[in-house]
Amino acid sequence: MNPYWSAVVRELTPYVPGEQPKIDKLIKLNTNENPYPPSPAAIEAMHAEIGNGLRLYPDPQSTRLRQAIAAANGVSSDCVFVGNGSDEVLAHAFQGLLRHELPLLFPDVSYSFYPVYCGLYGIEYRTVALREDFSLAVDDYAGPCGGIVIANPNAPTGRALPRAEVERLVAAHPECVVLVDEAYVDFGGESAVPLVKRYPNLLVTQTLSKSRSLAGLRVGLAIGQPGLIEALVRVKDSFNSYPLGRIAIAGATAAYEDVEHFERTRSAVIASREWLAGELAALGFEVLPSGANFVFARHPDHDGAALQAALRERRVLVRHFARPRIDQYLRITVGTDAECATLVAALREILAGQAARASAPG
Ligand code: PMP
Repeated sequence: MNPYWSAVVRELTPYVPGEQPKIDKLIKLNTNENPYPPSPAAIEAMHAEIGNGLRLYPDPQSTRLRQAIAAANGVSSDCVFVGNGSDEVLAHAFQGLLRHELPLLFPDVSYSFYPVYCGLYGIEYRTVALREDFSLAVDDYAGPCGGIVIANPNAPTGRALPRAEVERLVAAHPECVVLVDEAYVDFGGESAVPLVKRYPNLLVTQTLSKSRSLAGLRVGLAIGQPGLIEALVRVKDSFNSYPLGRIAIAGATAAYEDVEHFERTRSAVIASREWLAGELAALGFEVLPSGANFVFARHPDHDGAALQAALRERRVLVRHFARPRIDQYLRITVGTDAECATLVAALREILAGQAARASAPG
């Protein structure tokens, strides 16, 4: 350990992002990226912005982008915060709204960045077990707490909680902020954004990384009442005044305005997900219902880590988490139809090979 490290850094257990390998002809279904390119209007807007002079700092409030997001969501722009990916927005929310005397609550199986932020900001937390089928029981969150964070649809399970249940959770906890991380909501979840007007303790985060195919641009957002947004702005302005560059603001604004591209690509992903889930079930996998751009599945007769390794040998990358309760599952990002078909063919081959070995004499 380096002697110059602060006590906080010595204690950190950082988040480990999914692999971004530089291998040719790989089918990459491990980090929930969108298989389709972003809106052509977004690409054009970003090119134009380069010509517009990166010599100048960007708008520190990202006003244009916040207005586009506000218009799309039927809220005013003082209800919108934007940051460098929703990870940054989440980090600001953890620091600015979820660090209190009482512990923060989140599900035992959820986005693995949540405990990492708790470690970084010294937030006490308690995990609440999901049901056996990985659905969330709102009543298990009863009693006062310092805050609640859920991902909806959840990651890595893909399971979605109906809006009425989210509302029950938010209404039961006027004493704290309930943060609903909607990174995957556009693929089949019911957004909590329509509840924001009625609940001063509700903060919703979303991202342009998934349903708008802009993971590489790093743009995320939060929607909440102005009082909550002000907390995020105060953290941001004490950390980095310019989290979004000019190119990001231009591209993200145009992406938000291109509703047709958004609708077409997200429908394609949803259709491919349903096909993939059906094929996996036909191969004997147990597939959780998904409202996201990935499916979470396990095979009763085949080890999760072994399947992931066998797929990797066939140049298909999926995600496996060596964590309690989920170590037999694969999280498979929905790719193009061709990518999904290659994955299914590879799995069919692997399962047949393993079955043949298991039944071979001696
Ligand atoms: N929330 C969840 C549940 C996620 O899975 C991810 C993606 N890893 C994020 C937030 C962060 O996404 P981004 O920073 O790309 O907006």
